[in-house]
Amino acid sequence: MTLPPAPKLVFPLDSYLVNGAPFGKRAAHDGVFWGVHLGEDCVVPAGTDVRAIGRGKVVYAALHPGTADKGNWGHIVIIAHRRPRTKEIFHSLYAHLGTSFKRIGETVECGEPLGFIGEAFTLENGFWEAHLHFAVYVGPWSDEVLPGYWKEGEVRTRPEWWRVPSEFITEYQRKSK
Ligand SMILES: [Zn+2]
Repeated sequence: MTLPPAPKLVFPLDSYLVNGAPFGKRAAHDGVFWGVHLGEDCVVPAGTDVRAIGRGKVVYAALHPGTADKGNWGHIVIIAHRRPRTKEIFHSLYAHLGTSFKRIGETVECGEPLGFIGEAFTLENGFWEAHLHFAVYVGPWSDEVLPGYWKEGEVRTRPEWWRVPSEFITEYQRKSK
């Protein structure tokens, strides 16, 4: 795969603040246990720019509209990145975008706009405040969208394949210096 290396990472929002659900939160909605949250939620106004955290290649970009019963993800973008030295591949996932500027197969540069945060409380984007769900995934990639939560019986992913996004980026920035 022709995947360019990602020498540095930045945060996906100009001011990245986890003021929504943190990584690892056990989440329930309307009394239904969804599982353990595999990303970080940043509540920001609809229309806020979302940027690629590093150079890489878009491997997934699609709209996941909800239904009247269950809100969903809005537009999701997933980017594959490669560590320059170890060549290890990891993925960054951005959900609840109002639109996606990128398509599968496109290369993105570090900090390049991917889309913007979608409107709150819409069928398309989910019935909650406008926010970014941001996740970092280090497990195997199978060309399919990844779940945002994990619970017993979830076979599509494993909890150990996910990293605390803010810690991951901070660590990456520290090592690249
Ligand atoms: Zn989330």
